[in-house]
This record gives sequence, structure tokens and C-alpha cells, in this order.
Amino acid sequence: MKTIQAIGEFGLIDRIARRIKTSKNVIVGIGDDCAVLRYNKDKYLLLTLDMLIEGVHFTLKARPQQIGHKAIAASISDIASMGGVAKYAAISAGLRPCLSLDFADKLFAGISNTARRFKVDLIGGDTNHSAKLVIDVAMVGEVEKKKLVLRSRAKCGDIIFTTGTLGGSIYGKHLSFTPRIKESGYLVRNYTISSMIDISDGLAGDLWQICKASRVGAAIYENAIPLSPRAKTLSSALNDGEDFELLFTVPPRQAHKLLLKKPLWLKITRIGEITNRNSGIQLIDKRGRARALRLKGFRHF
Ligand code: ADP
Ligand code: MG
Repeated sequence: MKTIQAIGEFGLIDRIARRIKTSKNVIVGIGDDCAVLRYNKDKYLLLTLDMLIEGVHFTLKARPQQIGHKAIAASISDIASMGGVAKYAAISAGLRPCLSLDFADKLFAGISNTARRFKVDLIGGDTNHSAKLVIDVAMVGEVEKKKLVLRSRAKCGDIIFTTGTLGGSIYGKHLSFTPRIKESGYLVRNYTISSMIDISDGLAGDLWQICKASRVGAAIYENAIPLSPRAKTLSSALNDGEDFELLFTVPPRQAHKLLLKKPLWLKITRIGEITNRNSGIQLIDKRGRARALRLKGFRHF
């Protein structure tokens, strides 16, 4: 019997996607950070769903406020990666009956504080009992049509950038990160961003998603990758999940302008270039030698 594990998370999603036909109201369905839906003359509606499960995305050792923060911030991060703004969220919670009321209060305080901070209205949800704590967020956002950024428009020669620093998120950042909505807003207002994704499965895996969607290759430079203070190795910066930084590509001339004019608060690093599809994804070492980038990022199955 063939199992889900044999085809993996992305194999399964591809399999689901192949069997679905959507109406013309769906501008982008399965396969990007958010679904993109027809909305009005100037804007598209964005929809993203993210489920956080105890033992997978957090443990009960985390502070309940942090768990609540992470649930909302992860969805805002997906909206940011489309160039949009987050508007509304509905929260479904599967709660262990034995959890204290204090825990539940703090969990929902974490959710509502982060929602307020990012101007997201909480509009409903669903509550059930569950053997493990589960929080599922459905978030709606908006994006101006002209500012929509997909995973699939990277072109050969485009420059690859990432925000912030990468790796070692498990030591704390995965519970306290700031979704890069301000950075995304600045980028899409001022530059042509040819593709963008938020790094949830590790730089290597998410770069692979951009390359796959855009049908291109990439070359990234080992010594250019911004290691976070908690990332002990390059491999950790390439493969650890849940950085929630933005990985994006910019046409060369625009990239030049961006590097010259970027404001001080915008922490971005140029890490490589988009190449021809046939070159695959290459990691260039300090001496200029190229090797194929292997994927070791987090996998659900
Ligand atoms: P992200 O890490 O950005 O949240 P995912 O890797 O979870 O994105 O999902 C990738 C794409 O697959 C998204 O478009 C998402 O909507 C879609 N997807 C994931 N799981 C399912 C599912 N069970 N049914 C349909 N679409 C799914
Ligand atoms: Mg994402």
C-alpha cells in the first residue's frame, strides 16, 4: 500500500491540485502562499490558512501568549509574501479539556494582541476539544492588483534577496518573530519584485519552491547567506524551518537601485541570482566552486 509519506507533503498537495478545476474568479489557487481571488476594480482578495499543532509547531513549554502570537504572525507572513496587507482572521481552536483557563486566556491574549498590532480584525472561529492543542487561522488580506507578487515570475538574471537573518529559529525566534509586512509593503511600493515567498520550510526548500513555480534555476553564495546569531552552521541557515523572513527576486536594474536607495531599517541581503532552469539550484562556495544544493528542510511526512 502506497502511503502519504512515500509522496511527501508537496507530492500530496500537487496530487490534490491536479484534480481541482477552479472558476475564473480564482486568479491563483493551490500553489502559492495565499490564494488570490477576484475582488474589485483595483484589488485582489488574499486568503491563507495555517494550522499550528502541539508537538509539531510548538510545545506546551512555550508561553501561551507566544503560541497565540505565532498563530497570527505566520498567516500575516504569508500575506506579506504576496505583497498584501492583512485584514481579517478567524481562529479555530482544538483545546485539551485539562488546560487551565489561565492558559486559554493567555493564548487568546497573544492572538488578539498580535492581531491588534497588525490591524487585523478577529471575526470568528470554531472551538472543539482535542487530544493535542491545535490552532488554525484563516486570514483574509487585500493586495493592489499592480502590487501582487507570486512565486512564479522569477526570471533568469534576477537578483535573489532575503530579509533578516536565517537559521536557529527553533531557539526562540519561531515563537516571537515579526512578520515582514512593513518590508514587503516598502518593496512592492517602490520596486518590481518578480517573485516572493516567506521562508517557512528553510531557505533551500523555499528557494526550490520559487524555482519550481518560475521554471528557473538559481545560484546562491555560501558566504553571502546571513546567518542568524543562533545559527551554528551554514546548513542550519539553509535548512532550518520557520525563519519567517522573505525570500524575493528583483530584476537586475531594480536590484541595483534597491541596494543604493534602501532605508536603514530595511535589513536585506543579496544572496545570489536566478539562472537557467537547466543549471538547477547551485550553492557556490568561498572559492567559487559550485555544487548542487541539497534539500534537507523540514518535511511533514
Ligand atoms: P505555506 O508554507 O506558505 O503556508 P504550504 O506549503 O502550507 O504554504 O501550502 C502550499 C500550497 O498548498 C498553498 O497554496 C496551500 O493553500 C495549498 N495546500 C496545502 N494543503 C492543502 C490541502 N490539504 N488542500 C488544498 N490545498 C492545500
Ligand atoms: Mg508561506
